[in-house]
Amino acid sequence: MKVIVAEQIGFCFGVKRAINLAKKVLSERGEVCILGDLVHNRRVSRELEQMGLRKVSNLSECSSGIMLVRAHGLPAAEIERARAAGLEVIDATCPTVRQAQRAARRLEERGCQVVIAGDADHPEVRGILGSLRDPSAHLVLDSVEEVRQAHAERRFRRPVGVVFQTTHSFERCHALVGELMLVIPELQIINTLCRPVRNRQLDAIRLATEVEVMLVVGSFKSANSIELTHLLRAHNPNTIQVENADQLELARFAGVKSVGIASGLSTPEDVVDAVRARLEAAFPEPDSSPAL
Ligand code: SF4
Repeated sequence: MKVIVAEQIGFCFGVKRAINLAKKVLSERGEVCILGDLVHNRRVSRELEQMGLRKVSNLSECSSGIMLVRAHGLPAAEIERARAAGLEVIDATCPTVRQAQRAARRLEERGCQVVIAGDADHPEVRGILGSLRDPSAHLVLDSVEEVRQAHAERRFRRPVGVVFQTTHSFERCHALVGELMLVIPELQIINTLCRPVRNRQLDAIRLATEVEVMLVVGSFKSANSIELTHLLRAHNPNTIQVENADQLELARFAGVKSVGIASGLSTPEDVVDAVRARLEAAFPEPDSSPAL
């Protein structure tokens, strides 16, 4: 079996930056609270918890007096509430996510109804929506069907301004914008898709078309890992997602000649290495060097 790892794996710069900042603050201050997960990776979360990171579901539980804002960002009102409650706020929001928040505000200031193309339940989308002056006046839409429904229910106001959840797939955003163009005459778009994510997706798609089986290594809680799996399945139906090497069902790989490996943005490189090593140990590549 030939195992090929995609060129771009491991943490994206936003996740790396947030983890480094968290480690620095934890080593200096001991205990820090965070609303939700810093990254969607159990092993990294466990490591940070051991250093003193405490996940809380509301601000009143934050006994350390310091709150870390994760890479996905938080609604502005939440940050204000934390400050008003006397907490020190340390902001690890990814600069690209912050740009998306600013882009949405710019559109609102221009008088647009903002449409955020993304998953309404994703923390980043909640943060973008929550950074607007009047969140209730704007919309989060995730599919062509949702655009059609909003149009049928007359929920659009003109003009409409569009931003994207940074990790959304280009294909999904493209389809959604195409549908908006059919029903909205006055449309402004600010492309807030994260370029490293797109480059990774393209790199992984290329690999998926060249191998028999494609593996995505990433948490089932990670939206971008799940999105990557869906995307790759459209190019290679034999695409499987696993969180780590232990989840590999080796029997499924019997007789397979080539496997590609891509990873989510919050998957540490060594987890990918372990998946590769387990496959290579179970199905060693025949020695192709010529006999002497
Ligand atoms: S995927 Fe892009 S926007 Fe999201 S944290 Fe990583 S670098 Fe930032």
